[in-house]
Amino acid sequence: MSQTKRILLVDDEEANRDMLSRRLQRSGFVVDVAADGETALERVRGGDVDLVLLDCMMPGLTGVDVLKLLRAVHSADQLPVIMVTALNDSSKIVEALNLGANDFVTKPVDYPVALARIESQLARKAVEKALRESEERYALAARGSNDGLWDWDLRTHRIYYSDRWKAILGYGPDEIDDGEEEWFLRVHADDLALWKRDLESHWAARSGETLECEFRMLHHLGTYRWVRCCGAVVRDTAGKPVRMAGSMADITGAKVFDALTGLPNRLLFQERLEQALCDYRRNPSDWFAVLLLDLDQFKSTNDSMGHSVGDQLLVAVSERLNASVRKGNARFQAKDMVSRFGGDEFAILVTGLQDISHVEPIAGRIADIFRQPFKLSGRSVCCTASIGAVTSNLNYGTAAEIVRDADTAMYSAKAQGRARFELFSEDMRARLLRRIEKETELRLAIETGQISVDYQAKVRLSDERVCGFEALARWNHPTLGPISPTEFIPLAEEMGVIHELGMSVLRQACFAMAGWQQQYPTIPPLEVSVNLSPLQFQQANLVEQILQIVAESGIQPSTLQLEITESVVMDEGTTAVDMLVRLKAAGIGLKIDDFGTGYSSLSRLTNLPFDCLKIDRSFVVKMTGLDSNVDLISSIVSMGRALGMDVVAEGVEDVAQAAALRTLGCGYAQGFFFGKPLDSNAAAELIAGQMKGDAAVFQS
Ligand code: C2E
Ligand code: CA
Ligand code: CA
Repeated sequence: MSQTKRILLVDDEEANRDMLSRRLQRSGFVVDVAADGETALERVRGGDVDLVLLDCMMPGLTGVDVLKLLRAVHSADQLPVIMVTALNDSSKIVEALNLGANDFVTKPVDYPVALARIESQLARKAVEKALRESEERYALAARGSNDGLWDWDLRTHRIYYSDRWKAILGYGPDEIDDGEEEWFLRVHADDLALWKRDLESHWAARSGETLECEFRMLHHLGTYRWVRCCGAVVRDTAGKPVRMAGSMADITGAKVFDALTGLPNRLLFQERLEQALCDYRRNPSDWFAVLLLDLDQFKSTNDSMGHSVGDQLLVAVSERLNASVRKGNARFQAKDMVSRFGGDEFAILVTGLQDISHVEPIAGRIADIFRQPFKLSGRSVCCTASIGAVTSNLNYGTAAEIVRDADTAMYSAKAQGRARFELFSEDMRARLLRRIEKETELRLAIETGQISVDYQAKVRLSDERVCGFEALARWNHPTLGPISPTEFIPLAEEMGVIHELGMSVLRQACFAMAGWQQQYPTIPPLEVSVNLSPLQFQQANLVEQILQIVAESGIQPSTLQLEITESVVMDEGTTAVDMLVRLKAAGIGLKIDDFGTGYSSLSRLTNLPFDCLKIDRSFVVKMTGLDSNVDLISSIVSMGRALGMDVVAEGVEDVAQAAALRTLGCGYAQGFFFGKPLDSNAAAELIAGQMKGDAAVFQS
């Protein structure tokens, strides 16, 4: 025992007092003595007495009288009293025990027996004290909250359940007795093992931490409630758990409803879905469908407008979704359930479908809620969603399988350009797996430098001399062979790795060009064009990174041109334009790529720092032949010249196109007619050949 205990020895016979007090002192106790009842009561009132050894037979106040008076103030738990009686005085013993004596010893006192009883009482008192403290803690915590309380005697296997505890499970005070099974038989089968494991590890751990565990319990109505149980164990002196007390709170609400939108969460949705699956098995002509909906580009809304606007958007979407589904009111018609799965993902369970073909119009109705922009904090925010759906099928065993397939369909809708609906089909999963595989491989290819660069010559139309190259990314897949950039560039954009890819191409192109400029100096020097994805403008330090690579390679910034599609310029806010201005100020050339396919207005173009425009191949193709668009090309060329821009035509495939462009005054061209994209060695040979030709001309 940690602290020295104080024992009050009450006996009218001096010899007894002396003998006992000496032995008790030798056993390590502090001993107080009292020769009569009055003195004994006074000593106890003085405080600090841990246990009383009380002689029954005394003149004046008898031991039993003293006991009665003590018990009026101190309970048996608080102050243990051991009576000392004559061996044959059994009626006194019974009376004393009834009055609240904790134990007794007989005269003449057998000291080892007395000592064992004293120690046992003191140990018990310590346990009770700890328990009282923990109970007080819990009573305090439970007051004001709606928690049920429990107090479990691990020795007798009885549990005291408070009325509130019973009420949480739908029972009245007399409807549950104090058996352990009242609790354990009600724990959900899936949660029981966890709860038992937590209990056991709590008992095994010697730390003073409280146990906390969440599980489901069967309610009187046959449904399950989520509860959170907290508790602390009380041990005997040997460290063995003897009692445990704690609280139980109903957390069903917090557990199954989403805090932001108030919608049922994934957990509740899954429960409802399991139910729907059961119903469907009984009655397979009643179809159900699960639609999974994911907002498109929510992350960028969140990043650019702030999280509070993002939250408002989620709430607004949830309200519109809720308004768009069937509210069950008729007796037979179940209500459709809208749930927030987390993040910007929502799920809708539609039951009672007469035909699976009805899913499509439902998805259409849901897609319609995104037609009107959302008014958030005075701002108008547009948003679309990708929707995947799956319909009931007897092959499904669990809700999780259904959700997985809806997820596959949703993912497929995203992959096909977002803002669309896809119904799950079996081959979709195979396609998805292939795609995931490809994503993994692309990521690896970028990380391990497997993305190479080809170079397509840009020629000056006046003399058909190569004056530069466009760098084009290449991915040679180890088993599939070359994969087109029209496939892997969008993939990289969706995966969020386009910037790494773009920077790798830029680095390779700048370093290759630096080598060529050194080996084949010309006036003006050769230049290189590199494509930039619109998404790269989301990279805050894009300008710094580009300038750094240019500086490391050693090329003049003016010999680098960046090709940017019109869309980026028009769509993005001021940050992209600001980046363009800074790149321009650093001397880097800026080219509008795919000109004519976007919506650039003339006035807008004049305000932006572009110095070159590239006529899209789709226009060049239609230059010659019956309904030639040569007038359109002509006006683009003159517009470019009026704005002081160079004009490049891309996709020139034959001599007629080349001739027509030259006649129109278009300065530069690219295309298979002049050369296909070449790897860096072949490109170097091309330059070398041109230089040799020059030298030959010079010599002749
Ligand atoms: P783009 O920027 O319009 O590049 C021109 C594309 O047209 C190239 O296709 C090129 O090989 C092809 N081409 C060139 N001359 C002709 C021709 O006479 N006839 C025909 N039919 N095609 C011709 P490629 O290499 O498959 O690249 C496709 C697209 O992928 C590029 O279109 C560009 O948007 C993107 N891309 C390629 N490399 C990169 C890169 O490093 N970064 C980014 N962001 N995009 C890239
Ligand atoms: Ca380009
Ligand atoms: Ca193009």
